[in-house]
Order: sequence, then structure tokens, then C-alpha cells
Amino acid sequence: MKVTVRFAPSPTGHIHIGNSRTALFNWLFAHQHDGEFILRFDDTDRERSRDEFAEAIKVDLAWLGIRPHRVERQSDRVALYDAAAEKLKADGLLYPCFETPDELERRRSRARALGRPPVYDRAALKLTDEEKAALESEGRRPHWRFLLPNYDDDPFETKRTEVTWNDLCRGEQSVDLASLSDPILIREDGSYLYTLPSIVDDIEMGVTHVIRGEDHVANTGVQYAIFQALGAAGPVFAHHNLLTTRDGEGLSKRKGALSIGSLRDAGLEPMAVSSLAVLTGTSQAVEPVPSLEALATRFDLSTVSRSSAKFDPCDLEGLNARLVHDMPFDAVSDRLSRMGIRPTQIFWETVRENCSKVSDACQYWHIVTGPLEGAIDDDDREFVGKAREMLPEGDVDLETWGSWTSALKAETGRKGKSLFMPLRKALTGLEHGPDMKALLPLIGRQNILDRLPG
Ligand code: GLU
Repeated sequence: MKVTVRFAPSPTGHIHIGNSRTALFNWLFAHQHDGEFILRFDDTDRERSRDEFAEAIKVDLAWLGIRPHRVERQSDRVALYDAAAEKLKADGLLYPCFETPDELERRRSRARALGRPPVYDRAALKLTDEEKAALESEGRRPHWRFLLPNYDDDPFETKRTEVTWNDLCRGEQSVDLASLSDPILIREDGSYLYTLPSIVDDIEMGVTHVIRGEDHVANTGVQYAIFQALGAAGPVFAHHNLLTTRDGEGLSKRKGALSIGSLRDAGLEPMAVSSLAVLTGTSQAVEPVPSLEALATRFDLSTVSRSSAKFDPCDLEGLNARLVHDMPFDAVSDRLSRMGIRPTQIFWETVRENCSKVSDACQYWHIVTGPLEGAIDDDDREFVGKAREMLPEGDVDLETWGSWTSALKAETGRKGKSLFMPLRKALTGLEHGPDMKALLPLIGRQNILDRLPG
């Protein structure tokens, strides 16, 4: 059977690095199994869903290298959900309830006060047709609950009913359906909560594996029951731990914290973000991996840890720098051009080890091309003037720095830092930077002479 997965965000905000963990897990799993990745927008919440968020999510996924095989929106598929709801109603498994949120809250408090679990008591199942008609004529609209299969003959006599599954991240899991309230599938205004549309889509789209955050574990028991009521076996589930910052704080989509867009705008590489998002909270080392294909060769759901996946956003910078240091010229030349650099392989290979971000190359391009006023301390003026006089004739090449500084050492008696630093500062304006031997030919004779006052 073809492996089919889906990433199912609600387009109610921008996705952040924690959401990207779920998207990447699905993408990598599909990639490993030559399967299909569906991007499904769970946009049944009409008030909060926005087209611009859906578009932004597509852009963010594309930046990470995720190109869905198929994109769907639940708002286009309501007829399918209606058909499923009708079937459940006809089977007596979806029943109308008229309690207001206040009434429900009062009952829950009462149950808690009596030391009972605050589980819905199915009172609405006892309503006669006349009572329902009377409530409707008062203007009350029903919400609809799914009758959980947690009883033998009498729905008011529930019994322990374990739903078990072998979770690809968490191992054997079980939920007792008798400990849960019948879930509301349809709101009073007729709109669907996420549960039923998600199940209908997972069945209709042939989803074989649902990989999502562990905040959904408790839903899975209910969802299995609904899959069965709709005549399907249900997919394999994997619930991964959620990314949190070091202090354990979760990432909220609406706060804009660590959004993929903000990480992109900060000049981070997508693979720095993906390496951290995928490898954190697993038994594997968090290290920079150069491509999603390479990440797919080490990705393994069974290495996902049971505890939370804590990370320090500062680690992104280090991962990024390590990626940039090894980045081949072909991978960056177009980007360098777009930054106004006329890139050559030799330029990139000279500067990359000093770049934490690709955009840091701009500073070195400026140093190479000039004009630039270097920094010369008063004590070094005479020495720098001498250096100008003694710059070897002919082409400036990889030999020049060595022969120039040897001659200057012999002439002035300077050595070590007092020999090299004044030249570096005069020629680049910086105290640190790429190897001067390699940088010198790129700066070129004219720029060198212009930066060394005679
Ligand atoms: N729209 C749901 C969410 O974002 C999807 C959950 C699921 O993958 O089943 O949490």
C-alpha cells in the first residue's frame, strides 16, 4: 500500500519551528517510503481561517524544501462531511444535544464536587421527539455528539473500553473510552469541529500514517472509534513530543514566536532550522545536515524521545554557521549574485569560514572591492608606509602575503601580531577575518595601495 501522510495546519496564523517539526516528520517519512505528502488546510473554523495564512504556510513549507504532492482545503469538502454526519445520524451514533455551555459547566462542577469524573451524562439521549421539538421551537439549535462505543446494551451503563494502538513514537498506547465524554462533532451553527472532517479526509485520501504532536494523543481513542463507525480501520498513529524552549515554554502559533518567516528573514538557512526541528528531542545528535534527503537517511520515528524536546533558539546560529562553512559554491552563487556580489568560487571559499550567515559575505565583498578606509593606529603609520613601499612587484597572488611580511619582518624587526595586525586592520578595517594570504589577491594591488597611505 502506498504510504500517504498529511500535514494538516489550521490556517489561523503563521507556522513556527514547532509546527515545522510535524511537517518535516511527515515529509521525511513520506520520502523514506516513496510515499505521498498531502498539505491539508483544516479551515472549517470560518471565523479564524484566512487565505493569506494558507498562502504563507505554503511559502514557508517551500522554503524548508517541502513540496506537497497534493493540497486540499476542508472548506471545499463540506459535502463529504455532511454525508458522513448523515450516516452517523442514521446509525443512531450522532445525537442532538441542547445544553448551553453554562449548563454543561454547572454539571461538570457538580460532578467534580461529588468526586466523579466530569464526563457528559448523555442526558440528551433521553429527550423525546416532543421535547426536542419544543426546544427547537424555543429557538434552541442542537450541537451533535458522537455516541462512544463504551457500553454493551445500555448507553447509561458504560464499561471500561480500551482502545489500544501501537504508536510509532510512543509504543503501546491505550485510552479508556468510558473515561471520555461523547465528543461534539457539530456546533450549534452547523459548522464542524476538527474531528469529523479530519477522519473523513483521512479515509477518503487514503492516509496510511498520521504523524502529529503528542497534544493529540487523547483524541486518538475517540478518533479510532469514529473511524470504525465509518467502516474504516484507521491509520497508524505516531505522536511526537513537542518542541519547547529551554524553560519549557511551548511555542504558540499566534504569538509569532520563532515563526518560520522570522527565521528566514533573520538570514538562517532552511537546513539549520530543519536539522534542529527534527533532531531535537531524539536520541540522535543535533547537528547540521546539509539536505532533507540526507536528513531522511537518519530520520527514525522510534528515536523520538518520550520527554519534551527542549531547545535553545541560540543553537540555530551555531548550526547555521556550521552549514555555511561547508557550503559549496554552487549552492550559494545565485544568492550571492542577488546580494549584489559578483561571486567567484575562490571568493566564496576564502570567506565562507568567517560567515555565520551567507549574507555575511557582503561585508567581505565590500572589503575585496572597496573603496574602503582601513583602520590605522598612530603608532603603526610609519610601518604601514613602509609596507606600501615594500609591496612585491608583479601580480598579487597566494605567495605575496608570505614574501611581503617576511621582508617587512626583516626590515622592521616586527613579528607576530605587531607585524600582521596593522596590515589586516589597514586592508580590511577588521581585527579578524579570512586568511590574509587568500584575501590579498582578491583585494588586488590597486586597493592595497589605496589603503596604505605613503
Ligand atoms: N488541524 C489539526 C492541528 O493543527 C490537525 C491535527 C492532526 O494532524 O490530526 O492540530
